[in-house]
Amino acid sequence: MFENLSGRLGGVVKTLRGNARLTEDNMKDALREVRMALLEADVALPAVKQFIADVKVRAEGQEVVGSLTPGQALIGVVYEELTKLMGAQNDALNLAAVPPAVILMAGLQGAGKTTTSGKLAKLLKETQKKKVLLVSTDVYRPAAIEQLKTLAGQLAVDWFPSDVSQKPVDIALAAIDHAKRHFYDVLIVDTAGRLAIDEAMMAEIKALHAAVNPVETLFVVDAMQGQDAVNVAQAFNQTLPLTGIVLTKMDGDSRGGAALSVRHVTGKPIKFLGTGEKLTGLEPFHPDRMASRVLG
Ligand code: GDP
Repeated sequence: MFENLSGRLGGVVKTLRGNARLTEDNMKDALREVRMALLEADVALPAVKQFIADVKVRAEGQEVVGSLTPGQALIGVVYEELTKLMGAQNDALNLAAVPPAVILMAGLQGAGKTTTSGKLAKLLKETQKKKVLLVSTDVYRPAAIEQLKTLAGQLAVDWFPSDVSQKPVDIALAAIDHAKRHFYDVLIVDTAGRLAIDEAMMAEIKALHAAVNPVETLFVVDAMQGQDAVNVAQAFNQTLPLTGIVLTKMDGDSRGGAALSVRHVTGKPIKFLGTGEKLTGLEPFHPDRMASRVLG
């Protein structure tokens, strides 16, 4: 990912060598390269514009001290701004709640909600010794309910039964009740996804959110969606008080620009990256690592 950007920034260093101060003029070509690289990485235009503007403001007039070349100084600013844009540090899940801590999974169909629900259950069980319960409220697709049941079986995590004749809110409330009575630490609520955003779907998940009062509302988004991720993220962010983002399919050949775009449009922290179909493929997101990767 972003191989082009590191290549281009190598060029930036050369372009600016020998100048003692960063000026609008000597940064112009370099910033154009950064802009093009970000666009090629599928970062949405408004996010790119904002980023370039921030870098410009930060860098302009900056004196280049010590043994740094102006190019290195500019790369420093680009790196810092990129890290800042993606969040200053890794944000962990907030599970501080009277148990069960409810995690609501939101996103379009195919984004990876069900897979991520299973991955999260595994992670919380193994790394934090949490007692986790999984439930599906996808009453439109019996296959989705079965998929979660199968995952729960593979993971040896408990699963709360539901079926297509029930209402999503009723399922979730019954699962919370069950979780309370059986002392679960965490309840992960998987939700229905549609192929596109529609009002009925948004109203349903809003009602579900109000009913279950989750400590975490995670927006799951496919990194391969590139620029399209922006509109979907915007719609979910306007409907729900999202607490975090999971960017899935980072193992694919996407350029990863969705990370910057989704972050820009929601302002919410990316908490995890999905890195494979296997249930071990979930990693905490580290903005600084991502920035390093971006810059090579
Ligand atoms: P949902 O409709 O949002 O619940 O999406 P699913 O969890 O059913 O995932 C849709 C497809 O994406 C499935 O084939 C998953 O195996 C796949 N998938 C989910 N997360 C990842 C990931 O991080 N990497 C890859 N390569 N595939 C993933």
